[in-house]
Amino acid sequence: MRILLVEDDQLLAKGLIVALERLHYRVEHCLSGKQALQAVQNSTFDVMILDIGLPDGLALPVIRKLRANQQALPILVLTAWDHLETKIEALDAGADDYVLKSNLTRLPSAIENALAQRELKQQRIKADAALRTQNEELVKINRELDSFVYSVSHNLRAPPIVTGK
Ligand code: CA
Repeated sequence: MRILLVEDDQLLAKGLIVALERLHYRVEHCLSGKQALQAVQNSTFDVMILDIGLPDGLALPVIRKLRANQQALPILVLTAWDHLETKIEALDAGADDYVLKSNLTRLPSAIENALAQRELKQQRIKADAALRTQNEELVKINRELDSFVYSVSHNLRAPPIVTGK
């Protein structure tokens, strides 16, 4: 599993990378929203951990941009302050979860949760696609039956063929 960590606090980032790698995640680290967008464009990640207080102020725009591009990448927001307003803004923009920097022990379960949610979403998409194929198949069979019934009744109504001598 690959994690993109977007955090400008180098010390915190270093600690998180060590902790996450100990949990067998592979971590790529970048420092700004701009770098984060580039990283997502160039590579595939399973989870993004995003500091809400980035120096370029692009945390929320990054979330909105990824969601506007139909990116299913789970996004966990990191924040130093427990402000309801920040929380609502982040979730509103399309973040999946919200972890306080003072409560980082919750991060591993938040990651697991986000991955499980993504798995469920993918399964639902697959099931929907299967159902759609099945429906199309049924419509096709119905149409074939209709035209069969039509041709049979048409043949029955046709005048008998008289063969001359
Ligand atoms: Ca920061």
